[in-house]
Amino acid sequence: MWKIIRCGILQISRIFTIAAQEEEGKAAIYLVIFHLSFVLFMWSYWKTIFTPPVCPSKEFFLSQSDEEHYEKEERPEVQQEILKRVAKELPVYTMTSTKLIRYCEKCQLIKPDRCHHCSVCNKCVLKMDHHCPWVNNCVGFSNYKYFLLFLFYSLVYCILVTTTVLEYFIKFWTTNLRNTRAQFHVLFLFFVATMFFISILSLFCYHLWLVGKNRTTIEAFRAPVFLNGPDKNGFSLGWSKNWRQVFGDEKKYWLFPIFTSLGDGVHFPTRLMMDKEHVTGTNHHEHTRSSGSTQNFSVGPLSESKNFLLATGSEQDVSSGMKNHVTVSIES
Ligand SMILES: [Zn+2]
Ligand SMILES: [Zn+2]
Repeated sequence: MWKIIRCGILQISRIFTIAAQEEEGKAAIYLVIFHLSFVLFMWSYWKTIFTPPVCPSKEFFLSQSDEEHYEKEERPEVQQEILKRVAKELPVYTMTSTKLIRYCEKCQLIKPDRCHHCSVCNKCVLKMDHHCPWVNNCVGFSNYKYFLLFLFYSLVYCILVTTTVLEYFIKFWTTNLRNTRAQFHVLFLFFVATMFFISILSLFCYHLWLVGKNRTTIEAFRAPVFLNGPDKNGFSLGWSKNWRQVFGDEKKYWLFPIFTSLGDGVHFPTRLMMDKEHVTGTNHHEHTRSSGSTQNFSVGPLSESKNFLLATGSEQDVSSGMKNHVTVSIES
């Protein structure tokens, strides 16, 4: 009889030990995944907040004499002539909706393509996407990849919290959970994580769509204007190339908040250029490739990037480029 009782007790204690070991194993796995996603989330958030937006380089500012001339001049057409003369040597392919040179009166510079003046930061920001109050920073060329990763890891973090709490959340409603203060934590965690997940998911999906189209939020609302008119797909190079523009060529770095975006924030390959690439045999993509992780935003020699649209005597090039442009538009 005692033997049977002893065997029973041993059996029960063995079951409890296995259960405890399983719980410990589960807790260990949860802890590792939690901290991994937490570190990546904080890293991306940190980089999004503390990476300063990049402004155009000095080549885009008017010289002192041009600035004085521009300020004194009251006739808008003469002012435009001054800007056109300066812009001729700059890699500028877009213009205002009224086909004028994009000029920032506040910063007194010719805006590079995709550059916009942020009224909060009070400066022109390269490839400006939007000013984000959540990170208190401008999201643009220098930190767009970090911003996307910040959204992605926020989602991972929320999913992790929701799924690990779900078991206890169900227990709470089936009244299997002991009546402790943990009940409040379980409820709070579950609802907050689910709420954030739903709201961030829509924003993240929208930005994934923008990356696929190679558009900024600003360009999604107002199409960039090229010589042949507004073209919302003007910077789109195809789905795969568009992704590489933001995340870089090496996929092993895509999930880490380190700078791998292509380009220098000033030269952007357009569909028009891609066509020109075919016509002339030059590889513009190589020219716009950035120095990668060295994060060098300096503008390359401007003579190499002579303004295709504004240069005089290139009418034939423009028209042939436009012809090809139309062809691609129809194809895509
Ligand atoms: Zn400005
Ligand atoms: Zn800003």
